[in-house]
Amino acid sequence: MLPIYEIEPALVAAMRGKGRVIVQAPTGSGKSTQIPQMLLRHGLLGEKGEVVVLQPRRLAARLLAKRVAEEVGTPLGGVVGYQIRLESRTSAATRIRFVTEGILLRQMSFDPALRGVSAILFDEFHERHLYGDISLARARQIQETVRPDLKIAVMSATLDAGPLEAYLAPCETVSSQGRSFPVKIEYLQKPVDFEAEPVWDVAARECERAAAATGGDLLVFMPGSYEIGRTVQAIQGRPGLRGLVVLPLHGELSPEAQDRAVARYERRKVIVSTNVAETSLTIDGVTAIVDSGLARIARFDPHRGINTLLVERISAASADQRAGRAGRTAPGLCIRLWTEREHGRRPAQELPEVKRLDLAEVVLTLKAAGISDTFGFPWLEKPERRSLERAESLLADLGAIEPAGGITPVGRRMLQFPAHPRYARMFLAAEERGCVRAVALMSALTQGRGILLRGGGREVAQAREELFGEEHESDFFLLMRAWQYADKQGYSLDACRRLGIHAQSARQVGPLFEQFLEVARGAGLDTAERRVEGTDIRKCVLAGFPDQLARRLDAGTLRCELVHGRKGVLARESSIQRSPLFVAAEITEVGGRAGEVSVLLGLATAVEEAWLKELFPGDFRDAREVAYDGAAKRVVSRRERRFRDLVLEAKSSAEDVPLDRAAAILTAEVVAGRIKIETWDEAVEQWIVRVNRLAEWFPELEVNSLGEADRVTLIEQVCYGETSAKGVRDKPVMPVLRDWLTAEQLAVLDDYLPERLVMGNGRKSRLTYAKEGPPLLSARIQELYGVDGRLAIGHGRVPVRIEVLAPNQRPIQVTEDLGRFWREVYPKIKPELSRRYPRHEWR
Ligand code: ADP
Ligand code: MG
Repeated sequence: MLPIYEIEPALVAAMRGKGRVIVQAPTGSGKSTQIPQMLLRHGLLGEKGEVVVLQPRRLAARLLAKRVAEEVGTPLGGVVGYQIRLESRTSAATRIRFVTEGILLRQMSFDPALRGVSAILFDEFHERHLYGDISLARARQIQETVRPDLKIAVMSATLDAGPLEAYLAPCETVSSQGRSFPVKIEYLQKPVDFEAEPVWDVAARECERAAAATGGDLLVFMPGSYEIGRTVQAIQGRPGLRGLVVLPLHGELSPEAQDRAVARYERRKVIVSTNVAETSLTIDGVTAIVDSGLARIARFDPHRGINTLLVERISAASADQRAGRAGRTAPGLCIRLWTEREHGRRPAQELPEVKRLDLAEVVLTLKAAGISDTFGFPWLEKPERRSLERAESLLADLGAIEPAGGITPVGRRMLQFPAHPRYARMFLAAEERGCVRAVALMSALTQGRGILLRGGGREVAQAREELFGEEHESDFFLLMRAWQYADKQGYSLDACRRLGIHAQSARQVGPLFEQFLEVARGAGLDTAERRVEGTDIRKCVLAGFPDQLARRLDAGTLRCELVHGRKGVLARESSIQRSPLFVAAEITEVGGRAGEVSVLLGLATAVEEAWLKELFPGDFRDAREVAYDGAAKRVVSRRERRFRDLVLEAKSSAEDVPLDRAAAILTAEVVAGRIKIETWDEAVEQWIVRVNRLAEWFPELEVNSLGEADRVTLIEQVCYGETSAKGVRDKPVMPVLRDWLTAEQLAVLDDYLPERLVMGNGRKSRLTYAKEGPPLLSARIQELYGVDGRLAIGHGRVPVRIEVLAPNQRPIQVTEDLGRFWREVYPKIKPELSRRYPRHEWR
């Protein structure tokens, strides 16, 4: 009996009770195959209700459905069915439905009440796939609102239940210890470079050793179908492994081949599998594991602006799960194809997908469900705000969402394509233009590592030119031609090497191409072969990457400006060297020495402005702007044509500049200190002080003082009529100042606070006004002979302070009363001064 039955009563009670359950039981306990059947048997699905089991992997969904259908005793697609991205085996009778990826989430968007669904099981939840996280959040919302009767269970072999319990509270956790035997772990003694010695050869060698050391079946983990194929060949070539059945297991196999891998045999078997056998599927009888330590891991690639699946090293937690597969029925052995030392450097755990993937596709699905505030969405683990903003901005650029955040009709159509929104949008464009195959091939070419090697030297460059032509309107075209060539040559290493093509990467494009064609067919597109124009294909690229539109700044350099205010440099090896406008499908940030980042634009496609108008008619702005041109040092009128925020064309002219705008702009330059008005001298400042003192000392005259704001107005009046810095610099200020006051006020100013004072001896002397204190009269002793007592202005109301100077202009005394000076000070200093300046008059 499977261990899961030990917890059956607790599980059923919890489902009936709170309806939110966390199930923890080791792999092979019977979670995936038995719990859906328990719900059915115990009447938890009602009369006709369904249990939906969300699986991270398509292969697992199909195999589990098949197994459960056998156990229930009905044909697949009857009581038990499955629904994966491009394939569905369900019927009206289906009560247990295994699904993958966005299928459940899409169902929730189209029918938020989830009619007909009684329970949802989230399987393999520890893997923290994006769709698991988001579908769980939506299920919780639906259960809390319209469907309190919905049952939810989260299942996993290894789960840190703490945060999840809090997230699902109130919920119950049911766990089972299961049974397992010890597994001996062996590492390689020395590190192996898989570039020099292929991983499949190392694996085959270690398989031979494992087969000799144990008696059961073997399970080998490899990252993908290609490596699995090579491993199967290598194992078949080892003498020590003759007589064993060798079976591949991965998602690209036919259903029959997949079934063969999990079937039972008389002979010992070796299964070479992707990480689907890590926890999703249990293969009975395995006692030895050979683990490459590699897997294809989905990650957002900021260079390409898409999610990619590249081969990477798995985390320590994944490696432990893989090892555990050997200890299910007896003690086992696990051989790891890396060293113990290297093991210590592996990450303990993989990051949840929500933290490492581009969210554009799920955000679009959430929008379709009417959730416009994606940041407020109750995420199990909140993604970074930046990722959400990036997703929303991309969707807006693709025309999938409106500025207010709601989904558009184009966005809804895009959801029909289970692909990244960029490609969904490209397929939509391709449908109109009849070039679906080309878009499918381009999509496939951008998924893996590039197929063209860099730096092949002159010979490679020449060979490429001869075969593929010299100039292309898109770097994609070179890639497509290269791949078609490699495909025709059967990926021959020699032929590929001559043209600098990475044969292994090129080989992997074929199945991806087929997958994308299926995606297109699934959405009802015509994928027939036909003659297509390069222009149409290039328009499709533009439709998918409008946020990466670039304009060459000049013909001499490779410098460019991009939409969203970015700058970059076109890659030197790009075949688009002439087009002023292009779209870059790859953007790489290269850090420089001094911390500066240069942005390299690759995989370019030449586009034309007319196409922008055709595809995005609403995104053009004609702007007329009057601005200060710092280089020409003058105000110019600029006419700009923009696509979004990218200036496509700008013309500037010094003519027809409105004078009031010019005055305001020049004033700002003056106030900021970038233009100096040369005639704004001491006399101007004195005049302003005089006006202010007049206002202060004689308020009854009703002359307003001149504050900071008035100064700016003054400057503006000085600038009026000018358009250049030079004009402002040389413009006389005094006439403007005089205009500030009425003739009457001017007369009053000169009368009350004159610039010069006529003294008793008939001489005129200049007065200096300051912001504070009395006006000051400076005069040499000789000029003051005959003047006595106190001096005053302003009709006698403002006393004047006198600064008495020696013949050399040095101040001797400051006084307000000349009488006292003549009496008390003058007699004492006169002898000394008259000796020093004998030629002056001394009275
Ligand atoms: P869990 O989900 O807890 O890992 P499963 O429900 O997948 O466990 O599997 C329970 C048991 O059922 C396994 O130990 C295995 O023996 C058996 N089993 C599951 N799927 C298959 C299959 N396709 N063929 C043969 N046996 C299977
Ligand atoms: Mg399972």
